[in-house]
Amino acid sequence: MRAVVLTADKTVEVVTVDDPVLSGPDGAIIKVEATAICGSDLHLYHGMLPSAGVQPGHEVVGTILEVGPDVRERAVGDRVLVSGVVACGHCGACRRGDPISCLVTGPIALGTTPALHGGQAELLAVPAVDLFTLVIPEGVSTENAVLLTDILPTGFLGAQMGNIQPGDSVAVFGMGPVGVMALASAKLYGPSQIFAVDVVPERLARAEAMGAIPINATDDLGALGVIEATKGRGVNVAIEAVGNQRTIQDALSCVAARGRVSMVGVNLEMDFPFPMALAFLKALSFRAAFAAIPSTWSNLLPLIAEGSLDLGDVFTHRMGLSEASKAYEMFDNKSDGMLKVLLDPSR
Ligand code: NAD
Ligand code: ZN
Repeated sequence: MRAVVLTADKTVEVVTVDDPVLSGPDGAIIKVEATAICGSDLHLYHGMLPSAGVQPGHEVVGTILEVGPDVRERAVGDRVLVSGVVACGHCGACRRGDPISCLVTGPIALGTTPALHGGQAELLAVPAVDLFTLVIPEGVSTENAVLLTDILPTGFLGAQMGNIQPGDSVAVFGMGPVGVMALASAKLYGPSQIFAVDVVPERLARAEAMGAIPINATDDLGALGVIEATKGRGVNVAIEAVGNQRTIQDALSCVAARGRVSMVGVNLEMDFPFPMALAFLKALSFRAAFAAIPSTWSNLLPLIAEGSLDLGDVFTHRMGLSEASKAYEMFDNKSDGMLKVLLDPSR
């Protein structure tokens, strides 16, 4: 089959690799129908983890081609979306849809290690398929199904961890696709104002069209922009959806006393300079997490069905898998207004 492979810093290639085999008796092979590139793939692309040889991709929708003998609740022919994060698949946490709390293997994002290939490919092997896939319900579009594999649960988690109360003011740092999902989710909690912070004019314009007040953070003026816009008060909740030192500091700086900082942008530094004085002086709460993706589906599906989540057409581009190298480059450079790209493995 053809698959995307990270071959060097800022380089992906589409190459022919062996077809995947079942990961175990509870696994399945999926024929990939649609897959996307995530901001987390860009961390690999930029060498955050050793990634040469990794086949990336953790946002996958497709049809089951083969199941192992222990699979009970899925069958060949089921059209499913796949959790971008999996784990042992046997423990209580995995059974509750919370691979993040798995103590056996811990959470593993598909396509981040050579031991568990990702789905920017024609085929994908999924472990514990009963737990880590969802049969796509009638009426859920392919695009929304792809969003449910990772970034919608993540944006939703960003809003949930912020504990937004009706009337609160909220700032979302980063208007990439994850920030857009966080903005859409934050609106569900009845905040008085949402500020959307980014440096890319089209992304700020999109946030404004979704009802947010745009703040251009060019020249590192993100926190200051939010503080000025709130007449010095700061916001009740800051959601960080970038993962940079700068934006984490901004999120911590722009909240008012008893502010909540909710971080879903990924940052894996072990010696991060945390401004402890701010935490004490403002009595802040700080939470950071990966989303427990399967556990969010039962909350998110009704919200999608009733139309209360305004996801604002995040897929700006559709390309063939064969164009993955160009797609990565465009997503990384945000060129041609690209916000999120759907890759079609049949092309
Ligand atoms: P993205 O790269 O498209 O978005 C990042 C955005 O941040 C861009 O729009 C960029 O212009 C903006 N930005 C950069 N510097 C800024 C600054 N100084 N101030 C304000 N904005 C700034 O990526 P994405 O797909 O939206 O992902 C965002 C983050 O979410 C990534 O770190 C990704 O790894 C993470 N993520 C986390 C989870 C999870 O489970 N926690 C899941 C998926 C993605
Ligand atoms: Zn992702």
